[in-house]
Amino acid sequence: TVERLRPFTSTIFAEMTALAVRTGAINLGQGFPDTDGPAAMLERARDAIAGGLNQYPPGPGMPELRAAIAADRDARYGQKFDPDREVLVTVGATEAISATLLGLVEPGEEVLLIEPYYDSYAASVALAGGVRRTVPLVTDGTGFALDLDALRAAVSPRTRMIVVNTPHNPTGTVLSDAELAAIADVAVRNNTLVLSDEVYEHLLFDGRTHTPIGMLPGMAERTVTISSAAKTFAVTGWKTGWACGPAELIDAVRAAKQFMSFVAGGPFQPAVAYALTNEIPWVTAQRDELQRKRDVLGRALSEAGFGVRDSAGTYFVCADISPLTTSTDALEFCRALPERIGVAAVPVSVFADHKEPWNQLVRFAFCKRDEVLAEAAARLHGLA
Ligand code: PMP
Ligand code: GLN
Repeated sequence: TVERLRPFTSTIFAEMTALAVRTGAINLGQGFPDTDGPAAMLERARDAIAGGLNQYPPGPGMPELRAAIAADRDARYGQKFDPDREVLVTVGATEAISATLLGLVEPGEEVLLIEPYYDSYAASVALAGGVRRTVPLVTDGTGFALDLDALRAAVSPRTRMIVVNTPHNPTGTVLSDAELAAIADVAVRNNTLVLSDEVYEHLLFDGRTHTPIGMLPGMAERTVTISSAAKTFAVTGWKTGWACGPAELIDAVRAAKQFMSFVAGGPFQPAVAYALTNEIPWVTAQRDELQRKRDVLGRALSEAGFGVRDSAGTYFVCADISPLTTSTDALEFCRALPERIGVAAVPVSVFADHKEPWNQLVRFAFCKRDEVLAEAAARLHGLA
């Protein structure tokens, strides 16, 4: 393995999912739903295969999907993208993230990540030869907020890009409009690019609404907005994502993407186009269900003795293990948990360069059927 990839040879999701399978534990580690997305969307994918849509689709993505993505961003946010030049279909948001970093960051340029960060950001910065710098979220014991002074201190003429992720994995934080405005101000003043990972854009709870940072003044020309069908339509295995932004930036993302995968899987594209156009009510109902599931799992964690943090969006709720154990190693705690009580989760520390503030925090996924959550709750009670 080349040096720049050596810190990233295995992922926590692979490790914890394998451990859950081996021990028969309920997997609340890797975030994926255990029920299917809208039936008519699944039908469209079957139809596409039966109808012979089985050869390479166009490199930038099927026109009907690019049009549906642009129409959806316009309808929900008033965000305008030309489907022909400003929308690129990718192999999940994961490829969009890698291709954005590979296409737009020169070796040695700095990329700012909000810590803790989704694991593929650090690995993709390293693949691009970029230099990662982190800006922490800080907690008041209930929720999390961005350390804006740290952001202003971290940016410099070497900063090429700021990676923003709201709703945020792993903490479930939704950045406030004031935080987004502060990030935008830093980006504009320092003339940086922004990668905005919005894969959880539909999964905000308690009446919150999503603001794409690309909509803020001065941001459209410097932002690559990334999202995916995975979380919106409960199809994490379809690996259908997209990047939207000004043509000049999307050209760079496409230049990298074409040698990573050339094209994204064909039969899923008309199905996702259909869903973006017709299934937003399904997505809203899913969000309400997830909010209820967040509360169910949060209550169970609290009754088991964890210190439960606020989750304002995503599939995830984080919990502090310190009321339960003297351990200051959440990774060890998570490695032992499947054998101990038959539940798998992931430690937040693996998403951070500075482990200390995060080494007693564990992330649990609540995107599971009610009976699975009920069984997990019963098992968690075994800890108390
Ligand atoms: N970004 C974040 C914040 C994620 O949690 C995930 C995982 N679903 C991804 C990107 C990757 O999305 P996809 O499965 O579409 O590649
Ligand atoms: N995004 C999902 C999570 O955070 C899983 C991603 C993965 O397995 N790489 O749990």
